[in-house]
Amino acid sequence: MAAAATQGREIVLLMGPPGAGKGTQASRLAAERGLTKLSTGDMLRDHVARGTELGQRAQAFMDAGDLVPDDVIIGMVSATFEEAPAMRFLLDGFPRTPGQAAALDALLAEHGARITAAIVLDVDDEELVRRLLGRAEEEGRSDDSEDVIRNRMDVYRRQTQPLLDYYDGQRSLRRVDGSGDMETITARMRDVLEAMEDGSSHGRDGASPPGSPMGNP
Ligand code: ADP
Repeated sequence: MAAAATQGREIVLLMGPPGAGKGTQASRLAAERGLTKLSTGDMLRDHVARGTELGQRAQAFMDAGDLVPDDVIIGMVSATFEEAPAMRFLLDGFPRTPGQAAALDALLAEHGARITAAIVLDVDDEELVRRLLGRAEEEGRSDDSEDVIRNRMDVYRRQTQPLLDYYDGQRSLRRVDGSGDMETITARMRDVLEAMEDGSSHGRDGASPPGSPMGNP
């Protein structure tokens, strides 16, 4: 098992609403499986902090809790893939729109990789708001005020949640209970990935490719 986790291609998507704990779990799971964590939120915050042109373009969207335009995000991710020594990634917070999901499929095809699993962390709404407000106090992230949090949750529901059906259709979607302590949640995710590994040898490799992320335009 341990050997299998450190070789070959592996692309894990970590999805879920703001406050679900994606960032924390992404770091833990990536370290454990030898994956490179690619967090579009972290990359954007880094650009903002460095005052790059990209950061300046992204900041207003982030402060409002709106999504940064697809072309910015896709450019960032594609550059990271270009430089990667191996296609072993844990994607945290990407894709978030149908356009991003389609771009990801194209990028992966180019690099001869495919999605191993799309894991959704399920946490109920009240718990989400409670966690986000708590984090606002601790970290002082500028997009953690209550009205911006509500907008981020709304944006998630409208723009990102529909993608879950897309990955469900590809049979890569796995729901994980995101409540409880950190170790327990990581263990649940580990179990999901190990179960997929076991299943993949007699699994769906011959399956035909799925359609576009939101049906036909
Ligand atoms: P959260 O999941 O709590 O919203 P993130 O750190 O993932 O936190 O994202 C913070 C902000 O960065 C988002 O509100 C959005 O403005 C921007 N962002 C991050 N990832 C993406 C993405 N894939 N597409 C568009 N905007 C993004």
